This record gives sequence, C-alpha cells and structure tokens, in this order.
Amino acid sequence: MEEGLVSVDKFSAGSQAYFLTHLHQDHTRGLGAAGGWRHGPLYCSPTTARLLPTRFPGIDASLLRPLAPGASASLSLSSPTSDRPLSLRVTAIPALHCPGSLMYLFRGDLGCMLYTGDFRWEVGCDRARRAKQALLDALGGDTVDLVYLDNTYCHPSLNFPPRLVVAEQIVNIIRAHPDHEVIIGVDTLGKEDLLLHISRALQTKIWVWPQRLLTIHLLGIDENHEVFTTQTSLTKIRAVPRYSVTIESLEALNTVCPTIGIMPSGIPWLLRSSEEKAKPKVRPPAKSARSKGRDEGPTKMDYDPLSPPKLFDKDSYTLPYSEHACFSELKDFMQTVRPSTVVGIVSTSFCYVNPRHHFRHLCSDSDANDVGTPINNKGRDSDNLTPKRRHNGSATPEGKKIRISGSSLYRSKVTMKRKDGCGARINDTEELIGVA
Ligand SMILES: [Zn+2]
Repeated sequence: MEEGLVSVDKFSAGSQAYFLTHLHQDHTRGLGAAGGWRHGPLYCSPTTARLLPTRFPGIDASLLRPLAPGASASLSLSSPTSDRPLSLRVTAIPALHCPGSLMYLFRGDLGCMLYTGDFRWEVGCDRARRAKQALLDALGGDTVDLVYLDNTYCHPSLNFPPRLVVAEQIVNIIRAHPDHEVIIGVDTLGKEDLLLHISRALQTKIWVWPQRLLTIHLLGIDENHEVFTTQTSLTKIRAVPRYSVTIESLEALNTVCPTIGIMPSGIPWLLRSSEEKAKPKVRPPAKSARSKGRDEGPTKMDYDPLSPPKLFDKDSYTLPYSEHACFSELKDFMQTVRPSTVVGIVSTSFCYVNPRHHFRHLCSDSDANDVGTPINNKGRDSDNLTPKRRHNGSATPEGKKIRISGSSLYRSKVTMKRKDGCGARINDTEELIGVA
C-alpha cells in the first residue's frame, strides 16, 4: 500500500502522523498491536492521553501529542511519492461525545478537511454553542472541502431530545420504582454526566465496576469518592457494562429481588444473549421512549415529549440518551459548515444512510443530477471528488482531486448492529489526495 500522510482513528503502519478522536473501541483498532504503538506521533486530547496507558499499556508515551480543545498544531510532512514538503495545520474542536472526544480540522497543502469523529451537537445547549463558536473561529471563513461526518443517526426519523431532558426522564423512572434495584448499561467511557445527574437528583451513590471507577478518577471526576463506589451494599443503583444487560440477565436478577434495567442509548440494543450470538437480529423498539408504532419498522424513532418512557420489555426501559448527534443536529452542523462535500464515517450502524442523500443541498459540489442514495451506497458518489475551493478560498489546482476509497466507509447492509468500523487515511499521491 502506498505510504500515506495522516490517519484518523485508523492505526496501521504507513502514515506520518496519527489522530485519535476518542477512546471508544471502534475507533482504536490497531492501537493495541503487539509490542505497543510505535508507528508515529499520535495526536489526541489531554484527557485521552491520560487514559490511553490504562487501555494500551504498551503505548510509548513519548509518541503522544496531546492537543487541547481549541488548540492547533503544525505538521511538516513530505509527499511519499515526490518528497516535496507538505505543511498541515490541525485544530482540535470539542466533539461533546464522551470525555476527551475531539473533532479535527485539517488545513494546508491538502486542502481543508474536517473529521468529526463521533459527536453530539445539542442545538441551544451552552456546550454545543461554545463548540460551534470554536469551529467557526478555527475556520475563519474558509470553506471545508470535505467533511467526514458521524452518520450514526443520519436519518430524518432519528431525532431525540437533549441529554439533560432524557437524564431527568431516567431519574423519574427510578423514582417510580422505590422498591427496585436498578441497573444502567454503560460503556467503558461516556455517560458520566448522566450518572452524576442521577446521583445528585436522588442523593445516592452509584456502583460501578473497579476498572470503571479507575477511569472515572482518571477523568478527575468524584475525587472525594462521594458519588461512585464499588461496594454493592451502599446503593441500589448500579452502572454495569451494557453488554451485560440482557433480557435474560434481568429475568435472573428478578428471581432474587425486583430489578429494572435502563438502557440509555440512541439505538435499541437490549437483546436476549442468545440473539446476540446469532446473526444480527434485534427486537423492534416498539415500547421504547422514542418509538412510535411497532408495525412501522425500527426506524420510527421520533421523540414525542408528551409521551412518557414506556417499558421496552418486561422490567426494562430504553431511553434515547445518545452521545451521537441526531438528524436535526446533523442538519444544523451541515448548515453551519456548508462544506464542498461530505462522507459518512460509520461503516455499519443502526440505519446506515449516506449523508449526501440528505445534505447534498448544503454541499457546494451538489448538482441537480446528484440524487444520492440513502443506503446501499458503496462509495459511488465518493470517488474522484474535486474540492471546489481550497482552505484559502482559491480554486483547487487543476488536476488535484480527492479520491476516497469507500470500501471501509460504506456497507451494503442495513442492520441494527452498532457500527463496527470507522477511520480514514489521508494520503498524497502525486496530484491526487487519496483517502482510504
Ligand atoms: Zn464513540
């Protein structure tokens, strides 16, 4: 494979610099290679840099390049094909996904590209307002040639309320079950704000497993040990790995004492464990807070604020507490950035949608014949794209094209599996800018 320049969330040898948006497993593949990370400088947020050695003990700390939100760094690279020097400036933008998550804005001889990674964009919330301003300040009026977009929920029916609203709904569900134990499914990182909200509202501690407690303390949360505990006797609320919350596990727990399960997620992922082991097969989210109508299919997830959360299954609730932008937020984001073009970064998601299908009118390279394909697009419209403008506003030099190999970006199947891959490599091959 042609040696490249820059990789984002893609960690195989061959690039001159590497960028990690955040520490979720589907963004770190390759980082844990035997012998530890040694392929090149690795840029990430200071928070991610602090957590990295606990996830990847073999990592060489001298290769880490922490970049705080809003900060920029200059990179001097060289074309692997012509040896000509290339300069690149990268700015970190808060992604508001999980702790330490960043977007990266690249500008320089490669043009102007924005890689969102996973992000949330809660219009009207202070944090999102500040992130928006940071992005606009970093852009300084330049046009983004290409946006790599978190397309996890890129469908008009996938809308949900701000996290704070859903957090309060979750508190109300717990309040309505005073005699129940509660388990809440969480990842190894993220949703700390939800757990803190529950603890404050209910004046209770929350159990987490020991590794999760270590992560929380490394994040600088609850340093006085007032909220989180590993002692089950101190609380009836437990945050557990989300894979462990299944209908079967809830049934088993309820043979011991009354227990409800809460799944804070933009997608319904409560499965019977036997179903998880089989090929993708998911129970329709008919009773979820964001679902209206079982017979209308699993993509009917519009949120109705007047409809209280209902049982997803016996003893279990699923609520749209999401750390990914919903469709209306993606639209606002695209209206803010108005790039030349956009591609999705998620190869497999609950409902894969090509973002160009919905947002091509917000892209300056759209034309009347570009109808886009909502699904089952294997990169057709992502090949040989020519940025209309460069970062300094000038036209892209003739013959200089962005080529995107879509094999890792698009999959043909619409599935309710969580995404299983993302990341991009940005190469410079003579007059072509390739992204694979
Ligand atoms: Zn993530």
